Amino acid sequence: MLIQRGGLKVVAGLGISGVAAVNFLYEQGYRVAVTDSRELPPGHDQIPAEVASYFGELNQELLLQADEIVISPGLDPRLPEIQAAVAQGIPVVSEIQILRRATDAPIVAITGSNAKSTVTTLLGLMAVNAGKNVAMGGNLGRPALDLLKDQAELYILELSSFQLETTSNLNAEVAVILNMSEDHLDRHGDMFGYHTAKHRIFQGVKQVVYNRDDSLTRPLVPDQTPMQSFGLNAPDLNQYGILRDDQNNMWLARGRERLINSRDLYIQGTHNLANALACLALGEAIGLPLDAMLASLKTFKGLEHRCEFVQEIDQVRYYNDSKGTNIGASLAAIEGLGQAIEMHQGKLVMILGGQAKGQDFKALREAITQYVKTVVLIGEDAELIRNAIEGCAELLFAESLQQAVSICQQQAQRNDVVLLSPACASFDMFKGYEQRGHQFVALVNAL
Ligand code: ADP
Repeated sequence: MLIQRGGLKVVAGLGISGVAAVNFLYEQGYRVAVTDSRELPPGHDQIPAEVASYFGELNQELLLQADEIVISPGLDPRLPEIQAAVAQGIPVVSEIQILRRATDAPIVAITGSNAKSTVTTLLGLMAVNAGKNVAMGGNLGRPALDLLKDQAELYILELSSFQLETTSNLNAEVAVILNMSEDHLDRHGDMFGYHTAKHRIFQGVKQVVYNRDDSLTRPLVPDQTPMQSFGLNAPDLNQYGILRDDQNNMWLARGRERLINSRDLYIQGTHNLANALACLALGEAIGLPLDAMLASLKTFKGLEHRCEFVQEIDQVRYYNDSKGTNIGASLAAIEGLGQAIEMHQGKLVMILGGQAKGQDFKALREAITQYVKTVVLIGEDAELIRNAIEGCAELLFAESLQQAVSICQQQAQRNDVVLLSPACASFDMFKGYEQRGHQFVALVNAL
C-alpha cells in the first residue's frame, strides 16, 4: 500500500507528457487524478486503474479540488476551466516544474523557435561520448518525468514555449534560446507574449548561452552571470563563431582557435553550423571535454525531417524538411539549400502550406524571390500564403501532397532541388509533421 502524501494533484490533459506525469506522481505516493476533454485521450490505457480519470470534458469540479494542477503543454492555460482554478489561487504548473522539484542534478535547458531537437540530440550525444550519465528529452523523445527513472547526473531538456509558460525558477545550470522567429502566435497572442514565455527559461539560471545574430535571444540577467555567445561571424575572444581561411573553408572556432572544418561535418547549411556552435558553447558550460565534443560532431548525421536528403532523380535532389513548421525554419532551409545550388544555376521548387498559425508570410518574400522558381501551395491556408508571396515566384496549387510532388517533378530541371518545407503546421491534412514527411519520402521514392 502506497502512503498518500500531500493534497490532490490533478493532471490536466493526458497524452505523452500527461501519462508520464500521472505515473510519476502516483509512484511518488501523491493523490492524483486526471482530466481531459477528449473521450478517450491518447495514453488512457497507460495509467494505473486506481487513478480517478474524468474524460470527455475538463472536469471543472475536479480542477477546483486540486492542490495543484499539472498542465500538459498541449493545453492552453487560458482555458476558462483552468482560469477558474487560477482565480481560486490554485497553482498551475508544467511537468518541467515537477522535474525541477524532484532532482538537484544540473539541467541544461534548451529552447528556441527552431533547432531545439537538433541541438538537444547533438549535445546529448556529446555528453554520452564524454562518459556522462545523462538523460535527455522533454519536448522531444521521452517526456521529462520519465527521465527521472534514469537517476542521471545531468538532464538535457528540450523545452517548448508551452512548457516554459508554466515553469518558474528552473534554476538551470545553463540555458539557451537558440533563435526567435514568429511561431505559435495563435497561442501566445503576439511576439511579446511568445518572447516572454521563452525567456522564463532564464529564471535562476547559473550560466547563459545566447545567439549573437539574434538579439531576441539575449536575456536580462544579472551582470555577474557568465554569458557565452555563438554566431556565424568571427568570434571575439572566448566566444564561438566562424573563421574563414584563404580557400574559403568555414571553420568552427573558439576565439582565434580553429576547431573543426565545416567540410568534416555531415550536417548541411549554415543554420546547422550555428547549431553545432551552440552545442560547443553549452558543452563547455557543463565541462564536456573538447575532444569528445568534436568527435561527436564528426559523426552526427542530423535528424529525420530536418533538411533530410531523400533521393536524386534525373539530377534533381529532393529534401524532406517537414519539420519546417514555421517561417524561421523554412527560411533557413531556403537560404541554406538555395545558396548551395546557386553556383550551379539551380533553383528551388518547393512545397509550402498547411496551417499558418497567424504568421506573416511576407517574411519569406525576399528569400523566395532569390532562390525559388516555383512554389506549390497546399493545405487550408494556401490562399493566405499566396496573397503574401504573390509576384516572388510562380505559384501553383495542389489538392494533395501526391499532386504537389508530381507538380514539383514536372517543374524541376537539372541541378534544381525539390524541397518540402511547409512553414506551417500539418494537422489540416496529416496526423503530424512525421506523417507528412514520411508520405513525402514515400512519394518521392515512388517517382
Ligand atoms: P525544433 O525542435 O526547435 O523544432 P528541429 O531541430 O527539429 O528544431 O528543427 C526544426 C526545423 O528548423 C527544421 O526544419 C530544421 O531544418 C530547421 N532548423 C534547424 N536549425 C535551425 C536554425 N539554426 N535556424 C533556423 N532553422 C533551423
